[in-house]
Parts: sequence; structure tokens; C-alpha cells
Amino acid sequence: MCICSDAAAIRADDLQAVQAALRRFDPDIEVVDTVSHSWANDEFSKGGWMMHRPGHLTNGAAQIRQGHGRIRFAGSDIAGLDVGAIEGAMESAAAAARDVSPVLATSGGSLLTSRPRM
Ligand SMILES: Cc1cc2nc3c(=O)[nH]c(=O)nc-3n(C[C@H](O)[C@H](O)[C@H](O)COP(=O)(O)OP(=O)(O)OC[C@H]3O[C@@H](n4cnc5c(N)ncnc54)[C@H](O)[C@@H]3O)c2cc1C
Repeated sequence: MCICSDAAAIRADDLQAVQAALRRFDPDIEVVDTVSHSWANDEFSKGGWMMHRPGHLTNGAAQIRQGHGRIRFAGSDIAGLDVGAIEGAMESAAAAARDVSPVLATSGGSLLTSRPRM
């Protein structure tokens, strides 16, 4: 299976083009058939998963993971591990839940009465 971040880079139904591309990695590979799906053109997904530009994961995402005052963020886009995947979404959600639990426990269940943590 191949995942391509630029749909214009190659025509997935062009067997010779796919084979030429794959032979850069395995010179002896013989592609017998191809099948592809464009997540960008899929009416339900309208795109793929998050792909960070260099520096985003270690700078922007790391800062967002810290939260701001009483606000906590969760989601695979800012996950420290498995970013852009379901495992990352769960890891990020668990971290945010762990972070807010003590606040909820000491504020009678309301984040609104807790003090901002900067
Ligand atoms: C085409 C495609 C294929 C993928 N394939 C895989 C795969 O094979 N394996 C894998 O691990 N991951 C895959 N992923 C990535 C994975 O689906 C995501 O990383 C994961 O679902 C993100 O989870 P999340 O909870 O962070 O965000 P989401 O699942 O995007 O959840 C965010 C939720 O917030 C809601 N929301 C948005 N704005 C608001 C608002 N203002 N108010 C209230 N609600 C709001 C949205 O409706 C959505 O339900 C794929 C993603 C795509 C798009």
C-alpha cells in the first residue's frame, strides 16, 4: 500500500508510472495491478489526515498541548505520538482528561470556578 500526499504527483491507474516510482525503492518489483482511492475527492472525508509542516509538531503543537488557563485541547492533530492517527487522538484525549480531572475534583465539578493554570 502506498499513501501519496500529492494527488497530482502520480496517476495511480498508470501501472507503468507506479512501477517506475516503486522501483526507486525496489529495482526488481513488478506491479501487476493498481487500485486507488482519493480521500481528497471523497464526498465524506474531503481530505486526509493532518500532516504537519516541519517545526509544527515540536513548536505549535507542543504549545497547544500545554493548554491555556482553564482551556485544554485534545485531538490527534496535536498528539505527541501517532499524530494524525486514531491512536494519537486517544492518547491526546487521555492526557487532557488526566489534566482536567484534578481540577474537576476540587472545583465541585466545574472548570469555571477553578483558577487558571498558566
Ligand atoms: C480519509 C482518512 C483516513 C484515515 N485513515 C486512518 C487510519 O487508517 N488509521 C488511523 O489511525 N487514522 C486514520 N485517519 C486519521 C483519524 O481518522 C484521525 O486522526 C482521528 O479520527 C482524529 O480524531 P480526533 O478525535 O482528534 O478528531 P475528529 O475525529 O476529527 O473529531 C473532532 C470532532 O469535533 C467535531 N467538531 C468540529 N468542530 C466543532 C465545533 N465547533 N463544535 C463542536 N464539535 C466540533 C467534529 O464534527 C468531529 O466529530 C484517517 C483520516 C482520514 C480523514
